[in-house]
Amino acid sequence: MIRSRPRVGISRCLLGDEVRHDGTHKRSQHVIETLEPHVEWVAVCPEVEIGMGTPREPIELVIGADGVPSAGFRVRLVGVQRREDWTERMQAWARARVRALEPLGLSGYVFKARSPSCGIDDVRVAGTAGTARGLFAHALIDAMPELPVADEERLGDAGTRASFLARVLAYRGQTPVHGSTLGPESIRDGGADPVSR
Ligand code: SF4
Repeated sequence: MIRSRPRVGISRCLLGDEVRHDGTHKRSQHVIETLEPHVEWVAVCPEVEIGMGTPREPIELVIGADGVPSAGFRVRLVGVQRREDWTERMQAWARARVRALEPLGLSGYVFKARSPSCGIDDVRVAGTAGTARGLFAHALIDAMPELPVADEERLGDAGTRASFLARVLAYRGQTPVHGSTLGPESIRDGGADPVSR
């Protein structure tokens, strides 16, 4: 039996959970309101799950010769003040987390923009004018290159949200009803399955 809603990963702070470095959240109303009726969220916070705690020292991407290749840079993940290097720990955790996500059959992922862990391609690289990919996003996209991904800023546009949902459904082998938008009736699907976050 096919689940009624596709599973979509999401950066946990976007759901309103207070997991950011300063103990706040980044609830994304437009993402939640328009996509939640159609998807089953699978929430992940790399920085909490790796054991950094909340609140915690913020981290950033920096140039490092032996860092992770990303957007023409080699980047490392370090604390902004104490300069603690999280690169290897984040990479090892991210690889294991991605393996754990694979059996869930994700059909898409909504990342938090500009996060050194979750950003897709717009994370500032300290000391440069360039941007790169957050290290968890890097591991996930590397392992699932065809998975539809977006961030909450891209999804600020209603047309982009509709397009993203269509890609999620297509990835899962479902099709939106022709001519419909983001209403519940827009999804042609199968049976029921419990919701999880
Ligand atoms: S951006 Fe990613 S790592 Fe940062 S709080 Fe949100 S889910 Fe956690």
